[in-house]
Amino acid sequence: MKPVLWLIFLVLLAEITVAAEPPSHQEVRQVMGTLATVQVWAADDSTARVAADSAFSIFTAVDSLMSTWNGHSAVSRLNAAPAGTWVTVGPEVCAVLRASLEAARRTGGAFDPTVLPLVKLWGFRGGQPAVPDTAALSRVLKRVNFEAVEVGRERARLNLDDQAVDLGGIAKGHALDRAAAAMIRAGASGGVLDLGGNLVVFGEGPGHEVGVVDPDDPQSLLLVVPMTSGSVATSGQYERFVSVEGQAYGHILDPRTGWPVASGISATVLAPEALWADALATAVVVMGAENGLKLLEAMPGTEGVIAGPDGVRMTSGLRAALGLD
Ligand code: ADP
Ligand code: MG
Repeated sequence: MKPVLWLIFLVLLAEITVAAEPPSHQEVRQVMGTLATVQVWAADDSTARVAADSAFSIFTAVDSLMSTWNGHSAVSRLNAAPAGTWVTVGPEVCAVLRASLEAARRTGGAFDPTVLPLVKLWGFRGGQPAVPDTAALSRVLKRVNFEAVEVGRERARLNLDDQAVDLGGIAKGHALDRAAAAMIRAGASGGVLDLGGNLVVFGEGPGHEVGVVDPDDPQSLLLVVPMTSGSVATSGQYERFVSVEGQAYGHILDPRTGWPVASGISATVLAPEALWADALATAVVVMGAENGLKLLEAMPGTEGVIAGPDGVRMTSGLRAALGLD
C-alpha cells in the first residue's frame, strides 16, 4: 500500500464516545497545543459549568508547569540550568518526571523523556526541518539518556551537558487524571474529557461507550468498549509531522536510533490512568506491534489495539472482553 494511503487510514483510527444521555454541559477550548473537549454530567447547569471550568484550569496549570514551548515553565527552567544543578520544580512536576522515568525503564528506553534535543534537531520546534547529518545526530543522541535524570520531592536535575526533558508524551495524560479528579470534587457525576487524542471517562450515570474506528472500514467501529471509568489514548505518526523534501517525518522519535519512527503503526491504549495510557501509546509506536503488544500484555489492567501495515492486533484481554476468542 502506498504511504499516502496509510496516512489517510491512520487518521481514522481514533476514539469516539457515545453516551446514553446528552451531557449537562459541553465546552471546547484550545489548550496545551491542541483542542480540549469537556463533557460534564451534573445535577444542574451551574455545577456542570463550574466543573468544566475546573478541568480547563487544570489544563492551563499543567501547561504552564510542563510546556517546553513556554520558556518560563518549571520544565523549561530545569532544561536551562547547567548540568548537575538541582532545580526546584515542585512536587507535581517531580511526580510526572518520576512516572516518565518509570515508563522509560518499563519500555527499555523506547519512551524517553530526554528526547527534547532530538525533537529540536529534527525541526519540530521551529526552524527549518531537515534530516540531520550523522555527526550532529550522534552528538545529540549522547544527551538522550533518561538514566542521567535525578528526581527528588520538589527538585530535579539533569546530569548531562545540554540535556533537556520533554513531557509531551505523558503530560496530557497527567492533566486528564487531575482534571477528572477536579471535576468530581466540583460535583460532577460523570464526564468525558478529550485532550488531543487522549480520553478520560468517569461516572456511573451516563453509561459511556468508547468506540475505536476501524481503519479498514471507516463506517464501522473496530471495537466498542463500555467504560464507566478509565482512559484511552491513541498515538501515531500522522498527528504531527515535518516535511523534508516531500517526505513526512512524524513527531515520535526512536531514542535509540535518533530517527522518527517509520513503522506506520497507530496504537490505542486503554488504562485505568490517563498518564499511563498516554505514555504507553507513545511507547508502543516506538516499540512496534510485536514488542508493544507484549508490553501491554504484561501491564495489569492495560489493554490495547495496534493498527499497522500488517493488520490490526489487540491484547488478549480485549479480545476476550469483545468475545473474539
Ligand atoms: P501527542 O502529543 O500528539 O498526543 P504523543 O502522546 O504520542 O502525541 O507524544 C508525542 C510527543 O512526545 C512528541 O511531540 C515529543 O514531544 C515527545 N516524544 C517524541 N518521541 C518520544 C519518545 N520516544 N519518548 C517520549 N516522548 C517522546
Ligand atoms: Mg503519549
